[in-house]
Amino acid sequence: MHEQILGIDIGATAIKFGCLVDGKKLVAAGSERIDAASNAAFIRQLASIVQRNEFSAATAVGIGSPGPLDIEAGILISSANMPQIRSCAVLPELRQIFPQKIIRLDNDANAAALGEQFFGAGVGYENFAVFTLGTGVGGGCVWQGRLQRGYKGNFFEVGHIPMGGFIFAQAATPARRCGCGNWGCLETVASATGVSESFFQTTGERLSAREISALADDGDAAAVAAFALAGTALGLAAATLTQLMNITRFIFTGGMAAAERYLQPSIQESYKAHTFSIFHPLAAFAFTQGTEYTGVYGAAALCLEHHGQT
Ligand SMILES: [Zn+2]
Repeated sequence: MHEQILGIDIGATAIKFGCLVDGKKLVAAGSERIDAASNAAFIRQLASIVQRNEFSAATAVGIGSPGPLDIEAGILISSANMPQIRSCAVLPELRQIFPQKIIRLDNDANAAALGEQFFGAGVGYENFAVFTLGTGVGGGCVWQGRLQRGYKGNFFEVGHIPMGGFIFAQAATPARRCGCGNWGCLETVASATGVSESFFQTTGERLSAREISALADDGDAAAVAAFALAGTALGLAAATLTQLMNITRFIFTGGMAAAERYLQPSIQESYKAHTFSIFHPLAAFAFTQGTEYTGVYGAAALCLEHHGQT
């Protein structure tokens, strides 16, 4: 019999899904617009996906979700993109509807790290860190072959490492307020939003990271500098992880990973400036943009995790 796992990736506006067969092939992949009108509507939508005919043979369901979540209780506490959803008991409700299925829920960054471990740039590595570069900066860490979750799933919130004066003095810019309420977190400079803000501070023009990347392609100095600052901050965060935990493999994923050529040089430079030289030959910075269904693979990997295979 072929083992089938349904992966469900809850994104900003769409839910993507697909069935992973034998831990390899994704079939019947698709997507729907999220119905986030209420907790009940959201649960109904998730249940209707699980109930689809093409997924009837799936014995397990892995769900990757934006958060914050309480992963122990299986509750989606809130999400910036779904203001009507509050303290939604995703796991308890789905388990009640589908008592015969194994169902797992975790945050999208943890699912992304597992996706890299089983299918991506983390295959064959015992220790690595994943940075998801999007609107914010998320993170996941596989340590000694296992995804680490820490206290209630809040491990490795790299986006909120305080960068302090080093980064902001370089850019001659004051530390910025982060969405988390603090000042000067990594994601205030290293996310797509952060790059947009850096560019705005020097030019007075509000553009998206994608537009700034296109300008960088044309040799625009302010555009290149906005990415370089993001890279410097990411390199410093990576250096901190190396000095602290000896992690030397870093995987950058998400939309901003497309700007690799503008990020990679400053990542390397600031990484080397802040780490012992013995680590320099070991350090590797992999960029992967993934595909439309990378998140679905990651969500399905939530159900592979406890099979003892890596
Ligand atoms: Zn923060």
